Amino acid sequence: MIILDGKATADKIKIEIAAKVDEILLKGGKRPHLAAILVGEDGASQTYVGHKEKACAQVGFTSTILRFSDTITEDFLINEIAAINANPDIDGLIVQLPLPKHINEQRVIETIDPKKDVDGFHPENVGRMVLGLPSFVSATPWGIMELLKRYSIETSGKNCVVIGRSNIVGRPMANLLSQKSKPGDCTVTICHSRTKDIKEHTLNADIIIAALGIPEFLTGDMVKDGAVIIDVGITRVKADNKSGFRLVGDVLFREVSPKCSYITPVPGGVGPMTIISLLNNTLKAAGY
Ligand code: NAP
Repeated sequence: MIILDGKATADKIKIEIAAKVDEILLKGGKRPHLAAILVGEDGASQTYVGHKEKACAQVGFTSTILRFSDTITEDFLINEIAAINANPDIDGLIVQLPLPKHINEQRVIETIDPKKDVDGFHPENVGRMVLGLPSFVSATPWGIMELLKRYSIETSGKNCVVIGRSNIVGRPMANLLSQKSKPGDCTVTICHSRTKDIKEHTLNADIIIAALGIPEFLTGDMVKDGAVIIDVGITRVKADNKSGFRLVGDVLFREVSPKCSYITPVPGGVGPMTIISLLNNTLKAAGY
């Protein structure tokens, strides 16, 4: 069994991006600039935005975080996004989700200029991605594709099961793996909460992407020998440590890891690669 080390891979890609930034500056270009909007005080969201800010600094990007109270109105937020859309100094914009219940997330997503939509959530980018056209691909699926590529994992002709059909992970992931591409060319099955017998599907899978958000859902008896396992899940579970929680994936690692050929750990697997996707998309949004 080989660990798909997302942390080490991400560190390597950060060095590549930092070198690219040096080259841009040397040629008189400007630093790519990512703006993030954070609404409210959610602990996990603050941590994610903090990681993104740190990653920007590591590769030499400029980053700006706009923090707003969870009492702001939807129209206020829409106006802020419009101002960033019009600001030529900012190349990429992300709005950290989830937003407070009184704000319509879809309206917010659709307000972001597709050319600055480095999360790849705007319908224009989703549509272009589905058609296999140049687009900003949403961060987590892009990160997983890059991990498969960098570990030279053969996907062509393989049976792949994606558990979860969210717009940001499951659905784009299934689409990318089914495309005529490398990685890609998989025969993909999507499972969700209404799937009758998930085990029946996963036992036939060469590649399993677990993205449902239920800690340790995928157990050893659900996986065939030699499968490739990508664990997207991150759930904070109470723990008796300094932070008061630990991060748990959707895969029961101690049962599944002895059976599989490759597996991503949690933490240190998909998470760091997701941040790299944002950096990569910001570089692209800046024109490089
Ligand atoms: P989500 O929007 O809540 O979607 C969860 C999906 O799982 C839904 O499609 C749901 O089915 C399905 N599901 C729920 N219970 C199920 C069950 N018992 N059996 C089969 N399918 C079930 O979640 P998400 O945003 O895609 O995120 C999924 C997980 O990945 C979460 O733990 C999240 O924190 C994590 N995540 C990690 C990263 C990273 O960077 N590592 C990035 C994004 C998300 P229905 O559609 O039928 O409801």
